[in-house]
Amino acid sequence: MKKQKTGLTTKIFIALIAGAIIGVTINLIAGFDSKGIIDSWLVNGIFDLVGKMFISAIMMLVVPLVLTSLICGSAGIEDIRKLGRVGIKTLAFYISTTSIAIALALLLSFITRPGIGFSIAEKGVAFDTQDAPGFVETISSIIPANPFMAFAEGRMLQVIFFALLFGFAMSMLGDKVGTVRKGMEELNEVVMKMVVMIMHTAPYGVFALIANVFAREGFGAFLPLIKYFLTVLAVLCIHFAFIYGSALKFIGKLSPIVFLKKFYPTMLVAFSTASSNATLPVTMDTAENKMGVSNKIASFTLPLGATINMDGTAIMQGVAVVFIAQAYSIELTFVNIITVILTATLASIGTAGVPSVGLITLAMVLRQVNLPVEGIALIMGIDRILDMTRTAVNISGDTIGSIIIAKSEGELDQSVFNQ
Ligand code: ASP
Repeated sequence: MKKQKTGLTTKIFIALIAGAIIGVTINLIAGFDSKGIIDSWLVNGIFDLVGKMFISAIMMLVVPLVLTSLICGSAGIEDIRKLGRVGIKTLAFYISTTSIAIALALLLSFITRPGIGFSIAEKGVAFDTQDAPGFVETISSIIPANPFMAFAEGRMLQVIFFALLFGFAMSMLGDKVGTVRKGMEELNEVVMKMVVMIMHTAPYGVFALIANVFAREGFGAFLPLIKYFLTVLAVLCIHFAFIYGSALKFIGKLSPIVFLKKFYPTMLVAFSTASSNATLPVTMDTAENKMGVSNKIASFTLPLGATINMDGTAIMQGVAVVFIAQAYSIELTFVNIITVILTATLASIGTAGVPSVGLITLAMVLRQVNLPVEGIALIMGIDRILDMTRTAVNISGDTIGSIIIAKSEGELDQSVFNQ
């Protein structure tokens, strides 16, 4: 299984490089404006077709994925009522750090402007945007008058609202709806399997989409991609060092250095698996045996964190939104930005802790602010290393949350932490 995954990643990466080389070659020898055979058969023909099919396949999965994974996720939060205060504190910590992460990502990418220089729209692949709705409208429209219309039109905030409510209702009914719960869990598995299947076609999709972009853009397309990559890495580091560092130091009154020294092996596991779920046993072991978090707190906060708390993923999505908006020369309004913060926070809740899922839920964030989902292809080929890095940040957030909450509840053995 693992071997297959590595194989796929390599294939996607090769597709990216091959697409870029073929695209640049076409750009150099044919010149994009030649309107010749290459243009009509290859760039606007096969590349365009394969690329569009791949994007449709991703879009196809967004609503089912968010629906099933959020329903299962929120139905599993039944312990929250049992744990009361701890539950609320955990949720508050996770949600607030995720919103800070995404705000930081937006801020830094407005400074580095990673997508400037692409200007895809100017070259004739403009994306039709609609006027973004106003703030009050956005907030009030979160409640879907007709959930089926929301699914059909892919209105993500409405889908999320419905899914959360459905999940909570399910958790309140408990064993009475055991069959529905089991059915939902199985449905979620089926959708996850479909994600894996679609991801196997990614090399072709990425090749076609990238070749298409580079045929139009030529060499000019490299710099924005590098900028995007570095911006995501920079925000991940800043969030880790400053936000987590200060949370530990000022809220937990604990040494961030001691934490880092003991935690970095766990981060390496996350880095190499790119999966919060796969790392969970190691995260729990580290939290309990090296950090001194009681089992009572760790066993609740960490699995919950691995499921719903993805600060690193939110960071990638924030930078990606700005990158794609700039690449397509689409202005982001203030309302758009607030919507992105809200949606990416929720998207992080709906992102499963397995490799690459953050890219699929990115489609929903883009959709919510009317940005072209095709943009995902631009960043897909270089996502693996970012996925590995953001997963390490994701599980650090879970563990720091767990430590701080344990400390506030008198459930942290500080002698173990300082050992
Ligand atoms: N790989 C990430 C995780 O497991 C999720 C993602 O961003 O794709 O935490």
